[in-house]
Amino acid sequence: MIKNISLLGATGSIGRQTIEVAQVLGITISALTAKSNVELLEEQCRRVKPRLAVCMDPGAAESLRVKLADTDIKVSSGMEGLIEAATLPGTEAVVTAVMGMVGLRPTLAAIEEGKHIALANKETLVCAGELVMRAAQVKGVEILPVDSEHSAIFQCLQGCRDRGEVKRLILTASGGPFFGRKREELEAMTVSDALKHPNWSMGAKITVDSATMMNKGLEVIEAMRLYELPLEKISVVIHRESIIHSLVEYCDNAILAQLGEPDMRLPIQYALTWPRRAPGPAKPLDLLGCKALTFAPPDEVNFPCLSLAKEAARTGGTATAILNGANETAVGDFLAGRCGFMDIPRRVEKALRTVKAVQEPTLDDILAADAEARRTAEKA
Ligand code: NDP
Ligand code: MG
Repeated sequence: MIKNISLLGATGSIGRQTIEVAQVLGITISALTAKSNVELLEEQCRRVKPRLAVCMDPGAAESLRVKLADTDIKVSSGMEGLIEAATLPGTEAVVTAVMGMVGLRPTLAAIEEGKHIALANKETLVCAGELVMRAAQVKGVEILPVDSEHSAIFQCLQGCRDRGEVKRLILTASGGPFFGRKREELEAMTVSDALKHPNWSMGAKITVDSATMMNKGLEVIEAMRLYELPLEKISVVIHRESIIHSLVEYCDNAILAQLGEPDMRLPIQYALTWPRRAPGPAKPLDLLGCKALTFAPPDEVNFPCLSLAKEAARTGGTATAILNGANETAVGDFLAGRCGFMDIPRRVEKALRTVKAVQEPTLDDILAADAEARRTAEKA
């Protein structure tokens, strides 16, 4: 079991639950980071007593420094601060729970220092999965999935001796708050409609991604990178109840699944205790009390983000970074009231059609593709 972590994105939904899990397991948290939520970060610092606290926003870091003046916690800021937290000497693993591709450079820096990665931040793998997985292989570090579907697959793959025996991965999707709706109705959906997820309580960006189904598209790419499987071996099934978190179908047609209450504390904990298990705070599943389990195909006509993500995966190279950069920008604009719900797929599609994808990209190619995709999506 991992004994000492840095936690990037501590004030978010995954970050807060990671602190809870780590404290139950007796894991030391040496660094906490946030973007600008100084109030919560101060409270967490007083509870967790890390060596380092980081705010991405320099003004917020200054105010945190004043608030923590009576402690010996060092306060840093910006991308340098995030990288300092990710590479802190003495920590074994970094939990990457920041929102967005801002997590990429700290993740690469952590791998370079030989830290294991408990990865919630899927945007990093979508943008630069091949770079990240290659770096991890070279350094011999583990990329342990926190995303519930990928954790379920990881759990179902324990004991699999030959990846060639895997016929297909089946990612389950709740379908989000707009399951069953048609395109015309979706045009009118507001921010508060999109933030009403039926089964999970998560940060705003991923909740909107669930409503557009982009979240499942990002997860298909995340699964391709984590498990080194082609797009054809990954399928998506709508499972409204979010009890089966994903499945692996083997070549003999055996299907293994992981079930549980929708509670992120279980996959967070498994990433930290792997290859062992431990009692923890996640809710037990009452099989006799749970609803009937249902399955349906995804609707890629009314929810075009899933097919846009598959198209980017097929194109390869920087196309997935273009998809992600445009999506982060469009979702940010939707949340700020600057565009409509269906402008999200429209803007992503425009970026995919406009920005040229580069094959076998370097980190600089990926950062450039992300920047150009954001500019294109903004102007759409
Ligand atoms: P939240 O929005 O709740 O939290 C995001 C965290 O990242 C906060 O600590 C936030 O700080 C910080 N942050 C945001 N933007 C930046 C930035 N530009 N620079 C530095 N730090 C930043 O997100 P979630 O916890 O929901 O999601 C985090 C990641 O985990 C995402 O990649 C998401 O896709 C993934 N994930 C989440 C799941 C969930 O259940 N929530 C499930 C599976 C995956 P501040 O609070 O100061 O803004
Ligand atoms: Mg997920």
